[in-house]
Amino acid sequence: MNRKFSLVVAVVVLLLAAGAAAETVLGLPVHVQRLAPEVIRIWVGDEISSTATVAIATKKGVLVVDTTGNPKIDAELRKVIARELGRQDFTTLINTHEHGDHTGGNVVYADCTIVGHELVGAGMTAAAADRSRVLEWYATRIPELERELALKPAGSDSARTLREQLTVTTLDREAMLAAGKLYPPTRTFSDHLSLDMGDTAVELYYIGGMHSASDIAVFVPKHRLLLTGDTMADTWLTDTPGCLASFMARPGVPHDFPRLLANWDLLLAKKDAIDLYLPGHWNGELSYDGFAARVAYVHALWDGVTHGAQEGKTLDELQVEYALATRFPALVDSPGFQPRNNYTTIMEMWTTTTGQTSAADRLYALVEEGAGADAIRQVVVEHEAPTPKHFFNEAQINAAGYRFLQAGSVPQAVEIFRINRDLFPASWNVHDSLGEALLAAGETEAAIASYQKSLDLNPQNTSATNALARIRSGGTTP
Ligand SMILES: [Zn+2]
Repeated sequence: MNRKFSLVVAVVVLLLAAGAAAETVLGLPVHVQRLAPEVIRIWVGDEISSTATVAIATKKGVLVVDTTGNPKIDAELRKVIARELGRQDFTTLINTHEHGDHTGGNVVYADCTIVGHELVGAGMTAAAADRSRVLEWYATRIPELERELALKPAGSDSARTLREQLTVTTLDREAMLAAGKLYPPTRTFSDHLSLDMGDTAVELYYIGGMHSASDIAVFVPKHRLLLTGDTMADTWLTDTPGCLASFMARPGVPHDFPRLLANWDLLLAKKDAIDLYLPGHWNGELSYDGFAARVAYVHALWDGVTHGAQEGKTLDELQVEYALATRFPALVDSPGFQPRNNYTTIMEMWTTTTGQTSAADRLYALVEEGAGADAIRQVVVEHEAPTPKHFFNEAQINAAGYRFLQAGSVPQAVEIFRINRDLFPASWNVHDSLGEALLAAGETEAAIASYQKSLDLNPQNTSATNALARIRSGGTTP
C-alpha cells in the first residue's frame, strides 16, 4: 500500500469510527455496549456520570433496568434499545433504587410492570416534595456552569466536561419543570423477588442502606450478570464519579444491616455464577474482589459497633477503634472511602443498634426553630441519663455551631457553643469556638473570657493567643 493511499484509508476508517459513535440524543452522544446477543448496556455522554441502562431481550418481553433522570432522553433510548435488540415488546422495568436519575424516566415505561423495592415509592414522593429547592439549585447552577465554561479553552477536556454537564443540567431542569404524575414501581418486595421471564430468571435482592433506602441487586444467572445499582464501584473511569463517589451508610435512611449483609453474603457466594458486576453508572466498574472487600468492611464495622455497644464502649471510643486509616489501611485510597464516610457509617450503625440519635442534630433543629430553654434542657439532661436517648459528640455539636456561624446566624451559633461548653467544660476547643462566636456577636468581654479559658486548658492554642492579641490591639475581626 503506498503512503498516500494508506493515509486515505486511515482517514476513511477514522470517519467511519467517528460516524459510528456520533449517534446523539438531544445533543448527547449515545453509547451502546453489547454484553451478549440479547443484552445491551446503553448511556448518554462521554464525561458525565450518567445512568447506564441495561436491556435484556427475554421470552417474556424486553426487560429494562433503570432509566435516566429524564423522560425525553429515555423516550429516545427506548427506540435505540428496540432497534439494537430488534424487539418492540417491552414488558418490564426494574428500578435499582429510588433516586431520580434511575426512576426519572419511569413514565416512558408506564406500559410495563415496574418492579422495585417497597421503599422506592416513598423515596420518589419525598424527592418530589423537594422539587422547589432543586429548581432553586438549578437556577444558580446553570449560570455558574455557563460562566465556568466561558473561561475554559474551547475544545479542552474541561470544556467538554462542562458542556456535557450544562446540557444535562438544562435538560433535567426542563424535565423537572414539566414533571407531573409519579410512576413508582407497581410490583414491589421487601427482601427477595424472583422474576420468571420465560427463558431468563431474574433474582432481585434488597441491599439498601449504604446508598439509598431502597437499593437492590439484580442477578441474571443466564447472562452471568450482577447489577449493583449505585451501591459501590471499585474503579472510577472518569474523575466525575457522581453517585458512585461514596460508600457509606446514609443518614436519614432506614437500616437493616443484618439483612443487607445476609443478602450480600448470598451474592458473594454466587461468585462462580457471575462474570460481570455492573454498577448503575457507566463510569464505574466493580470487581469481585472490590465487592468482597466492601462487604467485609461493613461486616467488620457492624460486628464491632454492635458488640462494642453491648460491652459498654462509647461511640467516641468506637470511632477511634474503627478509624479508616488505622483499622482499614488497605481501603484508604479505594473509591468511595473517606474518613468522613467511615465516621458517618459508624454513627448510623450506633443509632441503629442502640436506638440513640444524635444530640447535635436534635439541638441544631431546636435552636433553628427557636425552641425555648426547657426543650433544650430536656436534650441536655440526657447526657447524664442512665439510658440516654441521644449520643453526645463534642465535634458534631461544635460543627452544628459553625453551620449557624457560617450562615450568619450568630445568636444561634452562640447558643449551640454555650450548650457544648456546658456539656464539655474541659475542652479547650469548645471554649475557643465559643469565643469566636461571642466576638462575632459583639460580646467582647465574654469572648476574652472564653479565649482565656481555652488558653488555660491548652496554652498551645495559638488561635486563642492570636484572637486575644487582635482584640487587645483594637481589631475584632478574626
Ligand atoms: Zn443513586
